[in-house]
Amino acid sequence: MIKLPSSISRLMQVFRDHRYQIYVVGGAVRDALLDLASDNWDFATSATPEQIQQLFPDSFYHNQYGTVSVPSQKLIFEITPFRQESDYRDARHPRQIRWAKTIEQDLSRRDFTVNAMAFDGKTLVDPWHGADHLREKKIKTVGDPFQRFREDGLRLMRAVRLAAQLGFFIEESTRQAIRDNAQLIEKISAERVRDELMKIIASPHPADGVLFLHNTGLLHYILPELEACFSVPQKSPKRHHIFDVGTHAVMALKHCPSADPVTRLATLLHDIGKVQTFRKDAKTGLITFYNHEVVGTRLVEKIAQRLKFSNQDKAKLVTLVKYHQFTVTEVATDKAIRRFIRQVGKENLNAMLDLRTGDRIGSGAKPTSWRLELFKKRLVEVQKEPFKVTDLKINGHDVMETLRLSPGPAVGQILAKVFARVVDGQVKNQKPDLIKLIKQPGFSTVH
Ligand code: ATP
Ligand code: MG
Repeated sequence: MIKLPSSISRLMQVFRDHRYQIYVVGGAVRDALLDLASDNWDFATSATPEQIQQLFPDSFYHNQYGTVSVPSQKLIFEITPFRQESDYRDARHPRQIRWAKTIEQDLSRRDFTVNAMAFDGKTLVDPWHGADHLREKKIKTVGDPFQRFREDGLRLMRAVRLAAQLGFFIEESTRQAIRDNAQLIEKISAERVRDELMKIIASPHPADGVLFLHNTGLLHYILPELEACFSVPQKSPKRHHIFDVGTHAVMALKHCPSADPVTRLATLLHDIGKVQTFRKDAKTGLITFYNHEVVGTRLVEKIAQRLKFSNQDKAKLVTLVKYHQFTVTEVATDKAIRRFIRQVGKENLNAMLDLRTGDRIGSGAKPTSWRLELFKKRLVEVQKEPFKVTDLKINGHDVMETLRLSPGPAVGQILAKVFARVVDGQVKNQKPDLIKLIKQPGFSTVH
């Protein structure tokens, strides 16, 4: 059944030697039963924090839940005395933490059956049938779902996150209770909502997760800008779109090849400006969304602020949404391609292309086109060319040596002239070519 790493067995033996009960609990048991690797080992014990600290002098204890951290090689084991909670004040924090006598009591306060199992090294303690539900791929609350979500609104998103991470479905009564209590998510801090949202987006099933947020009404509270997209149609004469804007967004996310959660989120949000820019021509029935990327850029900035994203993540989201309409055409000049690279930033180019791939497949198109492939090749080619004077294959020393000049403004002016020629494509950025150029009669006579 579960094979524990030897460092864990040793740790648990120390507790047993002192007649304390000790169990691996929560996510580690769940992941072990699923044969998933886990580096997050949590334990529950009958020992008090003080007793744990006596057993492990290098442990430390710093939170209000009584969790003691025991460092072990690369990992830190988190060990918490059996607990039970009661009296939730505001769907967020238990009013008081109470210690429990038994592991069964401790398991009863946990959120979902698959998270409410304990293992002592020999026997699985599973009063809520978590192992059965793992086999059935089912997320179900421990006890009455309505009450469990009332106690802690974060569980609404934890249910969706677990389902998206594990590829599970949410059991019917739990699903109904999420719908009935969706508004409780408003009581949860922006940071915690963002963290759960990003775990959903980073999971193996991000599109299912987002659809689930939509179907339960949670999306309305978390990302109302995206929720609004589901009522905006875009099927119109001569247009390739087959989905409404919201469904398109989810399909784009599903097919975005990037593993980076920020790139995935940008792909999900790239068209949110379409809600405000929707126009339908009364005569022709033609639907347009002029400048939706401009409106979208503003909205995504607001979303990033509201969900307290870091400045770095915010900048990336904004850039990807702002430029997602970039055109790929075989007649683009090198200059135009350079401008595009400068605007998007070299570091975001792959993300921008991954967004485009998701966008294309998510609107029913082929993953790529010859134009897009040509464009990608040119992005690479153009980047081999210099962007700044210092990228030139000659420098001031070469200029002074070749032309027997002494240091002075003329050297810089010559380099600037060389740079302009390279940028225009008139000469290759190769040392021999550039030396030849500056030696040309008249070229280096600076006025
Ligand atoms: P992961 O660490 O992979 O995100 P996990 O299941 O270990 O998943 P944690 O947030 O580390 O999740 O929580 C550890 C355990 O604590 C859970 O498995 C669950 O038993 C319990 N737990 C966590 N959050 C809650 C909650 N909001 N309500 C009730 N029990 C919870
Ligand atoms: Mg964990």
